[in-house]
Order: sequence, then C-alpha cells, then structure tokens
Amino acid sequence: MAGEPGRYHVDSSDPRNPAYLVDICENDANGWCGCRNFEIVHQPAWQRGEPGKHRCKHIIAAMLWECEEGAKLWNLCHGEREDGP
Ligand SMILES: [Zn+2]
Repeated sequence: MAGEPGRYHVDSSDPRNPAYLVDICENDANGWCGCRNFEIVHQPAWQRGEPGKHRCKHIIAAMLWECEEGAKLWNLCHGEREDGP
C-alpha cells in the first residue's frame, strides 16, 4: 500500500472478503494478517513459539510479492550493468 511500507491487500478466495490486510512487518517480521485463519491458527502458534505454520497463505503471498518487487528494483539498479570478472 502506498505510504505504508510492509502493508498489503492480498486477494482472498472468500467472496465475502475480497481482500485481506497483511502487514509483513508485524510480529517481529513474522507478519500479520486480518483473516480468520491467521487469527485462530497462526497467531496463537506464533505466540506459543511452535515451529512452522506461523504464516497464512496471504502473508506468504505478500512476502513473495515483496521479494519479486525487490528483485525488480534490484534489476533496475543493477541489471543493465556488467561488472565483469
Ligand atoms: Zn491470511
């Protein structure tokens, strides 16, 4: 989202909720999502310190998107230049 680093609206498969708000900076950069699955499954697991399953698919999607954008940005800055051996 413009002006709010780390925050994204991720498309949902639920027609009643067209998009969820995701903040990938929350929870010590584990990420936070507004979906019910995150609230009842992933957030408690993170708080209990259980391994894995700390992120719902929306957070993962937002993180992948950020990586892609980051890679694009990097390519813009560095892609055209050949540094040579
Ligand atoms: Zn979610």
